[in-house]
Amino acid sequence: MIKVGIPRGLLFYDYGSLWSDFFTKLGVPTITSSETTKKTLTDGTNLAIDESCLPLKIFLGHVHALLNECTHIFVPRIAQHHKDYYYCAKFAGLPDIVRNSFNIDERRLISPNIESKNLYHTFKACREAANCLDASPIKSYLSYLHALHEYKNTQNLSCKNKDTFVAVVGHSYLLHEPFFIQEIKNVLSAQGMKIATPDQVPPKTLYELSAELHPEVYWQLSAKIVGAAQYFCALPNIKGILVISSFGCGPDSLINEYIDNLILKPSGKPYTFVNLDEHTGNAGIVTRVEAFLDLIEWRQ
Ligand code: SF4
Repeated sequence: MIKVGIPRGLLFYDYGSLWSDFFTKLGVPTITSSETTKKTLTDGTNLAIDESCLPLKIFLGHVHALLNECTHIFVPRIAQHHKDYYYCAKFAGLPDIVRNSFNIDERRLISPNIESKNLYHTFKACREAANCLDASPIKSYLSYLHALHEYKNTQNLSCKNKDTFVAVVGHSYLLHEPFFIQEIKNVLSAQGMKIATPDQVPPKTLYELSAELHPEVYWQLSAKIVGAAQYFCALPNIKGILVISSFGCGPDSLINEYIDNLILKPSGKPYTFVNLDEHTGNAGIVTRVEAFLDLIEWRQ
């Protein structure tokens, strides 16, 4: 019996609920890999080439965990959502990376090409997914539209109230990866700090800010980070900005310098960068975040 595995990594944290709902509405059971553990990370690291970024290693670890649990794995090839931006090349090459890392029969991969949000490409991607499952393309498309409608009703929270926040900025798959982020949350909340993340701001606002003030940034995920840094720097109740980044990320190696010099430093707000890799231990993270909180207190 068909069962589709959805790896809990990379864009899962942005679109996982949409993908899973899409398959459910199509009548196809899914299984999502469990939360990341040390084993997931070790498995992914062993499978990946050395130059891979940390989120890709985690993703491969999740695929590894799913292989014996399901008939198919959902690994979309994503080049572009927003017409003015591009995803980093890892997203466009993800199905090939998975196929080569596991030597997997390509019929087990559901890898629709997601090239833009327009109707033609959306229908094409739904048809590609349907073909892998011997499902009706029309039913696939209607299931997607239905799932998308529900997904869009997800409310954004607001960080524009009187509470004191620390903004934590970075790729969604780092900010929502409990394996790394839970300890940071614990340290911040132990000091009475609430966390504001880019998810609490409408994406349209982030992209508009980035496009208006930093039009040269063309990676979609980086534009979101740039927009978020710009947005949070302007909010008085944001007491500091913590940028979470991962070792081996090509776009971050440029964008971190960019936001450091053009956004964070000129804002006068306390900020720091935390770079994660597979060797990062909780003790190291805690020390960095505590030092950052000391900096905020000292500035105040
Ligand atoms: S943007 Fe960076 S972290 Fe994300 S997949 Fe690309 S290289 Fe990896």
